[in-house]
Amino acid sequence: MTVTTLTTLEKAATVEFRGLRREFGPTVALDGLDLNVRPGELLALLGPSGCGKTTALRMLAGFEHPDLGEVLVDGEDVTRVPAHRRDAGMVFQSYSLFPHLSAVDNVAFGLRMRKVRTAERRSRAAELLDLVGLGDKGERFPHQLSGGQQQRVALARALALRPRVLLLDEPLSALDAKVRLTLREEIRRLQQELGITTLFVTHDQEEALSMADRVAVLRAGRLEQCAAPAELYGRPATAFVAEFVGTMSRIPGRLTKDVVEVLGQRLPVDGEAPSGASAASGTSGTEVDVLVRPEAVRVRADGGGSTRVVATAFLGAVTRVTVRLADATEVKADLPTHEAAALSAGAAVTVTLPERPVLVAERTN
Ligand code: ATP
Repeated sequence: MTVTTLTTLEKAATVEFRGLRREFGPTVALDGLDLNVRPGELLALLGPSGCGKTTALRMLAGFEHPDLGEVLVDGEDVTRVPAHRRDAGMVFQSYSLFPHLSAVDNVAFGLRMRKVRTAERRSRAAELLDLVGLGDKGERFPHQLSGGQQQRVALARALALRPRVLLLDEPLSALDAKVRLTLREEIRRLQQELGITTLFVTHDQEEALSMADRVAVLRAGRLEQCAAPAELYGRPATAFVAEFVGTMSRIPGRLTKDVVEVLGQRLPVDGEAPSGASAASGTSGTEVDVLVRPEAVRVRADGGGSTRVVATAFLGAVTRVTVRLADATEVKADLPTHEAAALSAGAAVTVTLPERPVLVAERTN
């Protein structure tokens, strides 16, 4: 794909959500959402089903209006601006192309509405189809295109009016795994080449972490954390983020000041005690859960105690080993596959944590 001056933006836009609240009857879809999107970045909105991702995106598109709060694009309040004057290009989960129009006419449709002359809109649509790798398929109708190709047409159509922001609502979720991976890379490359500020809704954490400059994790209509993928994974702000993004095990421990005792080890911890934990803390410390990533857990075969391997799963270069501790806590460890070969189900093992834990959280049970 090559990018021409026809599609390159002069200046990427900023987006700001300020205290967005939206109720649908008894459901609170957004509960005071604050979020800033930087110029030219791809920001993924990630979170469990029903947390308000699509509602937030639709508010930027102008399809939905907040009960409270404001939406700003480049510092301009667009909260009451109707959708057709918002300057946003949107791609939906379902391809939503016009079935009776060819690919080139689908892309040119918005230009026709804007009264762009026939020759100009066809050449511009052809150029956009080129951009998404479909230069030779312009005359095909949607039913003559694969799902991935239809989604590329939808992307070209969204870009046709040179929008200030690109909005993608689960654009890959209807596609099979292999096409999804290819298109993921192509969307990202195109977005970076165009330098267009992009909001991407997904509930697929791998998609969010691999594509986005920053990921905003939403929970029950509020922002839980917004950070670059590596920071979100390595330094999650809350237990919710820690457990929603990536795999995490909880191991019971005891916290005294900035040291946690866990698995017979004493490890330093960052930051403050988890909320709710301080009230119960005394000189003997507070009961907490220690949150650890599978790659930060070491497992060694030894005949002694009652800690046992309960399952192993081959994942290629690493094998995920699930271990049950004496108190029935299950801990997951990713070990190099050649190391895990000796650890079949039932093997007696010792578990150690070589690094400080990701987070210490309030004990849940
Ligand atoms: P998913 O990942 O399942 O698409 P989401 O995070 O995108 O979820 P939203 O679609 O924004 O969530 O919905 C947030 C909440 O608001 C949900 O409980 C949903 O059922 C509700 N909701 C959204 N739109 C409407 C509507 N038009 N009428 C009634 N309830 C709605």
